[in-house]
Amino acid sequence: MNHLQSIKPMLKEWIVKGGLGAICTILVWTYTDVPALLLSFVQTLSLPILSKLLIGTGLLFLLAICVIILLGILLRNKLHPNFGLLWDNKGNPYCPSCEKLLTDYDVYAQPEDEYHNLFPGFKCIGCNKILFIKDANSPLPIDWREAKKRLNKK
Ligand SMILES: [Zn+2]
Repeated sequence: MNHLQSIKPMLKEWIVKGGLGAICTILVWTYTDVPALLLSFVQTLSLPILSKLLIGTGLLFLLAICVIILLGILLRNKLHPNFGLLWDNKGNPYCPSCEKLLTDYDVYAQPEDEYHNLFPGFKCIGCNKILFIKDANSPLPIDWREAKKRLNKK
């Protein structure tokens, strides 16, 4: 698996979280002195202008909430179960227990195999489980590339 592709889903999440954190920090830093200024400013405004400002601010707040919810829906990574693992739309495998991206692909022994044969599988960095890609038609775990090919055919 290309290393860049493996961190790409996490990179998108980091950018969104970092962006939202930066926006919140700037808003807090910018508007800490606003309440005192706002009080003296509001006293100079007429009632129609004040109500217009309040309605506009409320609408902007609702619009911001809608944008945040929409971004959350659009950036959510939908996972589908297949071959005993979870898969995203790009064919990246995820742990079925903790839903972390599986990147530690190697050969491992199955605990139930008395001969200690080695099979390709993933070790989850989140919960340390060894996960094999199992197909219902095959008694032995299958290779990750083979599973990805079969996923693309579906
Ligand atoms: Zn896990």
